[in-house]
Amino acid sequence: KPVVMLCIGMAGSGKSTLMMRLNSHLNTIGGKPYVVNLDPAVTSLPFKPNIDIRDTINYKQVMKDYTLGPNGAILTSLNLFTAKFDKVLDILEQRKGDLTNVIVDTPGQIEVFTWSASGTIITETLASLYPTVILYVIDTPRTCSPVTFMSNMLYACSILYKTKLPFILAFNKIDVVSHEFAVDWMTDFEAFQVALQEEESSYMNSLVQSMSLMLEEFYKHLNVVGVSSMTGEGMDDLFIAVENAVEEYYKDYLPEIEKIK
Ligand code: GDP
Repeated sequence: KPVVMLCIGMAGSGKSTLMMRLNSHLNTIGGKPYVVNLDPAVTSLPFKPNIDIRDTINYKQVMKDYTLGPNGAILTSLNLFTAKFDKVLDILEQRKGDLTNVIVDTPGQIEVFTWSASGTIITETLASLYPTVILYVIDTPRTCSPVTFMSNMLYACSILYKTKLPFILAFNKIDVVSHEFAVDWMTDFEAFQVALQEEESSYMNSLVQSMSLMLEEFYKHLNVVGVSSMTGEGMDDLFIAVENAVEEYYKDYLPEIEKIK
């Protein structure tokens, strides 16, 4: 069965560049990726998707037809596409014997995908049929401040608990800034506290103190890798993390959904 990798990340984190890199890396190691774009509003992509939401949904037209703003139109476009998602599933079903991976790009407005009915339907349907992992892409150079880092981790945490799927944190752009500081902060809470004290008020400190247990628990459930979508650094580590995540899928996620079925 092909492994589904859902790329989620804020706009500018480098999702599309990572998609391109994953695609070319898989091709060089003899994999057979299938590439899906679910972002209706993207103007240009550095890769050529096999399935593209933009082929069937015209986001600008959706804005006009339903008199919506940008976010509403992205959500409505995703809803319209989800209504036809069975066609995508049919294609995957036919081709699954040939494919090793299905890589999926999602809208940069993360909440449109992670907190909408259609995003949930797409995620849960894929995860009920194929081993599915979340690849949460982080803009490392923009996450160096302790407060930004923590906000980003809380966001990632909310997605982990919402989807319950195996989760990989991909610290991107390590050609600019190494993700070592992040690994330090995640493994040594005191190091994080020290960094925070240097920059923030005591109010933040006590808040973080009380969240520390939760964050520590969250970090335990993560696979963490540093990558550069630009240079290709870290791709081997990323695919090792994917293998681990797939194991978690079969061990933890699948038995749970089979109980519900
Ligand atoms: P998206 O909005 O998440 O899809 O992000 P893009 O893939 O469009 O990337 C946003 C910007 O970050 C672009 O200017 C990319 O060239 C740049 N970028 C993406 N990945 C990397 C990386 O690994 N290193 C560096 N230096 N820049 C990157």
